This record gives sequence, structure tokens and C-alpha cells, in this order.
Amino acid sequence: MNIILLGPPGAGKGTQASRLVEERGMVQLSTGDMLRAAVKAGTPVGLQAKAVMEAGELVSDAIVSALIGERLDSAGAHGGAIFDGYPRTQAQAEALDLLLDERGEKLDYVVELTVDEEALVDRITGRFTCATCGEGYHDRYKLPKVQDTCDVCGSHEFKRRPDDNAETVRTRMAEYRAKTAPILPFYETRGLVRRVDGMAPIAEVGAQIDAILDGAA
Ligand code: ADP
Ligand code: ADP
Ligand code: ZN
Repeated sequence: MNIILLGPPGAGKGTQASRLVEERGMVQLSTGDMLRAAVKAGTPVGLQAKAVMEAGELVSDAIVSALIGERLDSAGAHGGAIFDGYPRTQAQAEALDLLLDERGEKLDYVVELTVDEEALVDRITGRFTCATCGEGYHDRYKLPKVQDTCDVCGSHEFKRRPDDNAETVRTRMAEYRAKTAPILPFYETRGLVRRVDGMAPIAEVGAQIDAILDGAA
């Protein structure tokens, strides 16, 4: 089972992907996470990507598709892959078809998380993650069960992304509208798209996705 989680910044892709990893043993392939790791490590890719990411624009198709190809080979995605934040352009969608084809794999679903743009700024500006394990949280919608303590690993250190500010979010949303949303018809003609109400509470979004993956929706 290979799926794409598609939706604008803050739609809940990472939140849902990490739950699917835990519950189904799938592998999460997040180009955003890969790029942030490259920036942190100061690799050539990271050096190229840093300013682009801070501006909220898209990193080049060649870079992200190469990252995905490498990760597909190293991750051993036999329980299935969740593409989170990739593809984001038509060229990336075509590259992904090739990458999967070369490995004898195919896409099963493209799950589109639909959300109100107004809610996204709020989601993004309230987002933070565990600095140790990466678990995602929100100032109002998903606080740690014990204050200042990660539910998953017990760490007390949290961090916020430099691009998670109100101004950059506007650029990121514009990029989504201009370059990413237009790839939906490419998958619609293949009957792969399933829509999920991303405005529902986290657990309900999860239940809707489960129903799709279990063939009940
Ligand atoms: P994406 O990966 O699509 O950018 P995230 O999964 O990181 O989005 O979610 C963005 C923020 O919104 C996070 O702080 C997360 O805890 C919160 N969030 C995710 N899904 C929901 C939801 N259904 N309702 C309310 N808040 C949510
Ligand atoms: P979000 O889901 O909150 O928008 P991501 O973590 O997926 O954030 O991406 C953060 C940034 O990394 C993007 O704004 C963009 O600059 C870059 N990026 C991530 N994935 C891609 C991609 N597939 N193509 C181009 N740029 C990407
Ligand atoms: Zn943690």
C-alpha cells in the first residue's frame, strides 16, 4: 500500500502520517523532514535549500525527487510508503510514477486533506515538535498530556520551525494553490483521489483515513 497525503501546509499530513507509521508499520517519506535534516547537517542540498525554505518557496524538483529516490531504496518501505509533502508539482508527480515503476511498486491512493485556508495560519503558528523524537504538537489542539513533557519519549525540549510564521505561511499557501493543487486532476483521472475532511478533530481525520485504507470508503 503506497499513498500520498496531499494538502496545504498545516492540513495535518505529518500528524496523520506519524500515526499510520505507529499503527500500520508504514514508512513516512517526508521531503520537508529530509530537507530540514539536510539543512541542519549543512550538506550541499541543505545549503541550497535553506533560503528557499525560509522564504516559503519550493525547492527544485530535481533535488526533492532525488531525495525521495534515495530514501525509497534505503527505507525498506515494504509495509508501504506514505508520501508526505511530495509530490508538490506536476514534474514531481511524474517523477514519482517513474520511481515507483522502477521498483515494481504503484500508488494505491491519493488522500486529499481538505481544509479552510483561514484555519491554516492558526494551525501553523501554533505548531511545535519534540526536539528529540519529532512528535508533533499544537498550542491548543494537541498539547502534551503532561505539561512540557513529550508523550512519546518524555523529553522536555521542544522546537518551532523558522518558516512557521504568519507571513511565510501566505507564500506557502500560494505555492500550494499555484503548483500543488493542479496535480489533483492527474490522479483523479486514474481514480486514485479520496477526500477527507481535514477540519475534523485529529482522531476523526484518522478514522476517515483508516476507512479508506481498509477499503471501507
Ligand atoms: P502538515 O504536515 O500538513 O503541514 P501537521 O500535521 O504538522 O501539518 O499539522 C499542523 C498543526 O496542526 C500541528 O500543530 C498539529 O498538531 C495540528 N493539527 C493537525 N491536525 C489537526 C486537526 N485535525 N485539528 C486540529 N489541529 C490539527
Ligand atoms: P508543510 O507541510 O508545513 O508545508 P513541509 O515540511 O512539507 O511543510 O515543507 C517545508 C518546506 O520544505 C516547503 O515550504 C518547501 O520549501 C520545502 N519542500 C518540502 N517538500 C518539498 C517538495 N516536495 N518540493 C519542493 N519543496 C519542498
Ligand atoms: Zn519526543
